[in-house]
Formats: sequence, C-alpha cells, structure tokens
Amino acid sequence: MFDVVIAGAGPAGGHLARLLAGQGRSVLLVDAIPDWHHNPFSSAGLPLEALDRWGLPHGLVKARWKGLEIVSTAERGSWAGDRDRGAVLDFGELRAFLGEEARTRGAELRLGTRLTGWEALPEGGCRVKLASKDGNEEVQARVLVDATGPARAAFGLRPGTDYLYGVGLEHLVEVDEATYQRFGDRLVFYLGKGWVPGGYGWIFPMGQGRLKVGAGVFTVGRGRQSPDLGPFVERHLREEVRAGSRTLDIHGGLLRYARGLGDHYATGPVIAIGDAVSTLNVLGGEGIRFAMEGAELALPFIEAELAQPGSAFRGYERAMKKRFLRSWNHCEALAIRKYLEEDDSRFDRMVRFLKQQEMDLLMEVLFDYRFGRALRAAGPRYLLGKLWRKLRRPLGRVPPC
Ligand SMILES: Cc1cc2nc3c(=O)[nH]c(=O)nc-3n(C[C@H](O)[C@H](O)[C@H](O)COP(=O)(O)OP(=O)(O)OC[C@H]3O[C@@H](n4cnc5c(N)ncnc54)[C@H](O)[C@@H]3O)c2cc1C
Repeated sequence: MFDVVIAGAGPAGGHLARLLAGQGRSVLLVDAIPDWHHNPFSSAGLPLEALDRWGLPHGLVKARWKGLEIVSTAERGSWAGDRDRGAVLDFGELRAFLGEEARTRGAELRLGTRLTGWEALPEGGCRVKLASKDGNEEVQARVLVDATGPARAAFGLRPGTDYLYGVGLEHLVEVDEATYQRFGDRLVFYLGKGWVPGGYGWIFPMGQGRLKVGAGVFTVGRGRQSPDLGPFVERHLREEVRAGSRTLDIHGGLLRYARGLGDHYATGPVIAIGDAVSTLNVLGGEGIRFAMEGAELALPFIEAELAQPGSAFRGYERAMKKRFLRSWNHCEALAIRKYLEEDDSRFDRMVRFLKQQEMDLLMEVLFDYRFGRALRAAGPRYLLGKLWRKLRRPLGRVPPC
C-alpha cells in the first residue's frame, strides 16, 4: 500500500509529490502523458519571485522579461522595465524537474498511466484503478490526490456548479534576429474582439530566437464546441511577428474553472488540488504558482489524514477558500466582464488609462491581482462606470451559453 497516490504530474501534483517524498512518504505519481514533453500546453510565464518561492532552479528559465505591452483594437501601451520582472519556462521541463525530483526523493513515477476510478476501503484508504497501455491495474493508497487539472478525474464536475471554460492554442515559433529583439524582453497581450473575441492573445519570449504566440477564449457553461483558434494565432503571426517565422511546435490546453470555487474538494480518503479545485486565476489565465501554493496548503491535511485516518480533510475546503475565494471571485467577475461582455472601446479606454501608470502598478494588477491603487488612480471615472453597470445589471451575471 502506498501512503499517497497522486494522479496528475502537473505543477500541483509534481510539487506535492516532491514534498511528500521529501518527508519520507511512499508516493506513487501517475500521469496520462507518455513523456514530460508531450503537449507542453502552458505558456509558463511567471513573476520572477515565483522561482525562489517554489524552489525552481533558474536553469528552468528560457527567457526573462522586463517589460509589458498591451495592445487593444485602437491603443498600444508599452512599459519598459529597468530590471527583470519575470521568467518564461518550458512547461515540459518544469513538469520533468518536479517529477524527477520527486523520484530522486523516493517517489515511484509512472507516465502513460491514467486514473480511471477509485473505491474507498472499509478498513480505510482506497483502491485506486489505473490504466496504461499494458492494461488495467489496481493499487491501494491511504490517500488519493486528484491533481488532474481540468479533467478532475476523481470527482468529476460538481452538480449545481457553473464552470467557466477556456481553451488555449499556442505556436512555438523561431523568428529572425530583428523580430526577437522586438519581443525578447517583454510579455505582450492582445485584447479586444478584433484580436480574439471572448479572450485574449499573447506573445511571450522563449530565448534562442523563439517566441510563444498564442490565443485563448472563454465561455460560460459547458462550452461543448471548441472554437478554432488557428485564425487568431495566425493573425498575430501575420501582423505582429510578420514574415520569416517558422513554427516548431503547436500545443494547447483546456481550463475549467468552477465559479465561486464551487468544486468538490475532498471525500473520504480522496483530496483534490491545483486546477482540479480551480486555483487557476481566471483573469490572468495564470495558474502555475497557485497550483503549487495549493499543494502546499493541502500538505498538512494529507499528513493529518495519514496520521489519523477518517476526518482530516474536513477543514481543507475552508482553508483553500480562505486563501483564494475573495480575490478569485473578484477576478472571475472581472474576467467575465472584460472577456465576454464589454466591447472593444472599453479595452481601448483601459489601455489609455494604463498608459499613464507606471510599471509597478501594472505588475500589481496583472500579477498580484490587487486593484486598489489602480482603482484609486482611475478615481471618479471608475466609480461612475461602476454605478452605471450596477444600474444596468448585477456584476458578473451572464447567461450560460
Ligand atoms: C494555453 C494555456 C496557457 C497558460 N499559460 C500560463 C502561464 O503563462 N502562466 C501560468 O502560471 N499558467 C498558465 N496556464 C495555466 C497553468 O498551466 C495551469 O494553471 C497549471 O498547469 C495547473 O497545474 P495543475 O498541476 O493543477 O494541472 P495541470 O498542469 O493541468 O496538470 C494536470 C495533469 O493531469 C494529467 N491527467 C489528466 N487526467 C488524468 C488521469 N485521468 N489520470 C492521470 N493523469 C491525468 C494531465 O495529463 C496533466 O499532466 C496556462 C494554461 C493554458 C491552457
């Protein structure tokens, strides 16, 4: 019997596996991907502090960025930083680092292996059902962790909860020296329906003359139809990167965010972490740091369940919501308003306003999700807009599609 079986070796599962293995726990980490570099879907842009905070070696960094640029239909704001503010990682290498470190610390690792189900055992713990190309298998665990992100393989979607769905597509392209000089030190975001209706686009540097060029869209409700994002990425390539780029890889992924953090957090000996409980910040489409933070928040509950099986997960949902709910609710309402409701002129106005602000304030809004200073700077204009929206419709209420 394993102490802990972790399904999903993304940032949440990989980080938890290395922490538990480092504490001497017997850990089995499984993931459906056949190898670490299979579909490295995430753009993996992070603020620089995240590297030290989560113990990520600087060797994982492909590019560092100093500046930001936001492009709307009619405006272009550019903030040139005087020091490094963030990093872009290779997502495949990040997963490999976390998983291999867990293995070095004693965890057993199986790629190409999928969690297909689980059953609680009367004597405690659970029977975990796994499938790989070699067939089906069952193992026993005292605790099962669902770190399968949007798949939510252990619990599925929670009835009665509304989900925001996102889908992203990204090209890794090789560009000429002049183009790389233009984009190599900044993150660029494209907002507005002219660029990507219902979402946003981006160009991130990846070092060695490479860029990540992507687009993502959101829908409320089930989002059964996957939109074709190809044309939006091609527009970025055509109009921003221009001729001469060579696509080296195309990858993409899904986001599934429970509105109001209404996910299923734990039942019996099973607990969910990371994007499986919506630690992703849906406004920024940023989730790597928060998946790892969520894993750390879950750790003492898992240790308590191992020490005294039965009821240790009871306070977990409360602890997670204490950390995330207030700020994430605010970001969720803003994301719905910005990406799904407002017209392009509002993005233009926002960029015009932000152009008068300094880089630190941009970082606060885009990476700390703190809006107080920006709202104070926007002053009466913001308050009037808020009042107007309140009169028209309560914030964030959009019909499901
Ligand atoms: C296009 C795109 C761009 C993004 N860009 C950024 C960015 O720039 N910065 C940032 O911080 N975040 C970004 N994110 C979000 C970030 O990647 C996620 O929030 C983060 O990866 C969540 O980590 P996780 O470990 O919870 O889940 P995931 O990384 O999704 O890992 C879940 C793992 O579970 C595995 N799995 C699924 N089902 C099963 C099963 N049944 N059995 C076994 N394994 C299973 C999957 O293969 C996967 O490896 C982006 C996301 C997308 C889609």
